[in-house]
Amino acid sequence: MKVTFLGVGEAFDNDYTHTCILVEAAGRRMLVDCGATAPPSVWHQSKRPDYLDGIFISHFHADHVFGLPALMKRMEEDGRTRPFYLFGPVGAQRNVERLMEFAYPGMVAHLPFTLRFRELQRSHRWDDWNLRVVNTRHSVQNLGLRLEAGSPTKVFCYSGDGMFTPTASKLYTNSDLLVHDAYTMDGTVTNPKGETINIGIKTHCSIQQLERLDDMARPKKMALIHLNRNLRKEKADILKKYKQRRWIIPEPRDVIVL
Ligand SMILES: [Zn+2]
Repeated sequence: MKVTFLGVGEAFDNDYTHTCILVEAAGRRMLVDCGATAPPSVWHQSKRPDYLDGIFISHFHADHVFGLPALMKRMEEDGRTRPFYLFGPVGAQRNVERLMEFAYPGMVAHLPFTLRFRELQRSHRWDDWNLRVVNTRHSVQNLGLRLEAGSPTKVFCYSGDGMFTPTASKLYTNSDLLVHDAYTMDGTVTNPKGETINIGIKTHCSIQQLERLDDMARPKKMALIHLNRNLRKEKADILKKYKQRRWIIPEPRDVIVL
């Protein structure tokens, strides 16, 4: 299984592309989220309209899903004919179609390839891939993902946005790689006026909370993404502080082979 980080930034990041991860295994390629600024990173990866088999959408925030209309439109322009799979929370089809229609009116009806929506509630078998999801705590419904694929089987887990729950922790247990939201250090961020804003632990995960998750779920490796734009500047210090743990803070285009 090969994991390529195309985008690792937060919603309002000036340096980093929105969340977008490419997972390849058992002859399949799936994007994991595609934020508004992510499509160019996908096109740099490959210009082939058939390159991707599908996408997993964790939740409907712009920095995770607003790249979809451009991604689909370019597939159309470049001549895609084979079906494209969309995995997401219940309501995904309605939301994606609304988003596409708003971006490019008439697009949904005239797409020359089929969109195969799979609204996930617990688990889903996609040929040799096995997807399992649970809800995490975020400001909108968000799915944490466990993906098992390949031979020997490898396990990729992804939090989307939000704070983990006991069920999510269980879902991530013994994964080969857990990619997790790490928006704050301690539940707070500092704005340009120097004011401390309490984000709490209800909508995003903090690095301090990830210590707890790491101890419970014991992933073989953990990748911290979606760091707040100011916290991200402290990457070297964070990695130094946690050098005993197998944590990474990936840069765009970093690749992990599991
Ligand atoms: Zn979000």
